[in-house]
Amino acid sequence: MDAEFSSRFEAAIAKIKQVVGEKQIILKGEAFEERAGDTSPKVQRPAGFVFPASVEEVQAIVKVANEFKISLWPVSKGKNWGYGAATAVHAGALIVVLERMNRILEVNEELAYTIIEPGVTYGQLNTYLKENHPHLWTDTTDSTPEGSVLGNALERGLGETPYGDHFANLCGLEAVMPTGERVCTGASPSTGAKTWTTHKWGTGPYLEGLFSQSNFGIVTKAGFWLMPAPESFSSMLFEVHDEEHVVPALNALRRLALKGVIRSNIHAGNNNAILMILHSYYRDYSKKSAPLTKDEQDHLCNRFGVALWTFNCGLYGAPQEIRAWKSLIKRELSAHGTILFMTDPKMAIAQKMMTWLSTHQTSFIGAVGAKLFRKVFGKSLEYAQMGPYQHNLLKGIPTEYFLRYAYCKSANAAPAQGLNPARDHCGEMWHAPAIPFTGEHFKIVRDACRPWYEHYRMDFCMTLLLINPRALVTLMGIFFVKEDPEETARANALHKKLCEVTLALGYQPYRAGVASMPGLLDSAPDYKELAHRLKLALDPNLILAPGRYGVAPFHP
Ligand SMILES: Cc1cc2nc3c(=O)[nH]c(=O)nc-3n(C[C@H](O)[C@H](O)[C@H](O)COP(=O)(O)OP(=O)(O)OC[C@H]3O[C@@H](n4cnc5c(N)ncnc54)[C@H](O)[C@@H]3O)c2cc1C
Repeated sequence: MDAEFSSRFEAAIAKIKQVVGEKQIILKGEAFEERAGDTSPKVQRPAGFVFPASVEEVQAIVKVANEFKISLWPVSKGKNWGYGAATAVHAGALIVVLERMNRILEVNEELAYTIIEPGVTYGQLNTYLKENHPHLWTDTTDSTPEGSVLGNALERGLGETPYGDHFANLCGLEAVMPTGERVCTGASPSTGAKTWTTHKWGTGPYLEGLFSQSNFGIVTKAGFWLMPAPESFSSMLFEVHDEEHVVPALNALRRLALKGVIRSNIHAGNNNAILMILHSYYRDYSKKSAPLTKDEQDHLCNRFGVALWTFNCGLYGAPQEIRAWKSLIKRELSAHGTILFMTDPKMAIAQKMMTWLSTHQTSFIGAVGAKLFRKVFGKSLEYAQMGPYQHNLLKGIPTEYFLRYAYCKSANAAPAQGLNPARDHCGEMWHAPAIPFTGEHFKIVRDACRPWYEHYRMDFCMTLLLINPRALVTLMGIFFVKEDPEETARANALHKKLCEVTLALGYQPYRAGVASMPGLLDSAPDYKELAHRLKLALDPNLILAPGRYGVAPFHP
């Protein structure tokens, strides 16, 4: 910080303290360090964190920021691990953390929506609905239950159920503009309109998109659609074992999604991705910085029973519908791999069996039982234990289980609970290009990216997430040992290369990390110019998240 900026910043903080109180600002110390990092290699150091408790406090902070020309970066919970967490594109931002604004303001059972503040988490909403409105389900990600429903939706994050496109399920936003006014999108309740949270398009220009992946406002409240609990539910595990079946299997899955047979997310992982959730190989193998050899990969896949590609999705409806869909699915997919459907009662029996086997592992009968289990189900007990978590995710029940993925190369094992990969110095970042949902597009991206993993000596980890029946995300994880500067540099170089390669092929990221935001829109100059003009009109002092998604660079 130069002296001139320091004095402006100090003056602004003195005023903001009067708004939120001294305790609601963190400028240094352990709590600061815990929030100021991410799993990605390098982040820009914030100047501080402020925790407003109401929309009025947010407005007051924004006004002070304009007065002293300091930049703000809003986050709801700041758990955006692998994309920058609670850090800005530029150093010296004041991070506005909205976690204290965590009220569930309304749940409407009849119309299946809720109105929430940004601090409401998946875990909180899920528990609240279970206790008060058991006929409604919320969606969730497979990241932390501590993630923000609203923060994730504004970032266009993806979940698991048919309500997995989170931004698509936001309806009715309240936002504080960069100049401090409070506005509501569309037909807001203050105008007497009754459809704020039920009619997404409102009347006139549709403005909600302005607040997603942008720097045009701080969202302080929103309507969010919930899923009526279905009459019955079945999860599906589909495994593809041979390379030649991957492309046709993807095309078959698209046909099923387009026909509405599969309406949930289709979440898939390649063998490395599943292994990394299951097994922290870094601690077991002595040559710490090398990727798995083919032999090691084969050995681990055999040991656990991991397929080449594993797909998970859910079926939701009346029992007759589910029966019909299952037979359509078998007709389309059986030629390409193995299918397992699980209902709640079946999963409960499997869980009892697994609990018994794992508590009797050391006894003779337990060991025989585990062998028998492996033979019948083709999976080790350890891998099969992932099943209930996956099954429940498809019902919108959050878990920390899959966050272990981020710890796969960490020197320390993931804690039993309270996982926080940024705090625990895990090395991980995402590259997430969106592709048209065809096997052929998948193959182009995979074949363009995989050799670069080999070049930079990293394990090729790819998962797929459905955005809609016409588009998929090919999500690539880069995992590295953060304490090793040479490996961290390679991870960084690989990330840059993947961005370059996929953009050159015409595949844009569905979402980007703060490190790759500068220049993100350079390949679309007309669009960038329009976004800049909007930004200047709404935020003349450029105080709100300058540079976010490549829009309006930072002016200190
Ligand atoms: C192992 C692992 C698995 C993951 N799985 C998933 C997954 O399945 N799906 C998925 O989507 N993500 C996933 N993530 C990424 C991430 O952890 C989640 O998306 C998480 O929910 C984002 O953090 P948050 O909810 O705290 O959002 P925040 O960090 O609060 O928000 C994200 C960004 O949105 C903007 N923003 C947030 N709130 C506001 C607001 N009120 N007004 C204006 N702008 C705002 C900010 O720029 C902020 O930086 C995963 C990460 C890891 C490490």
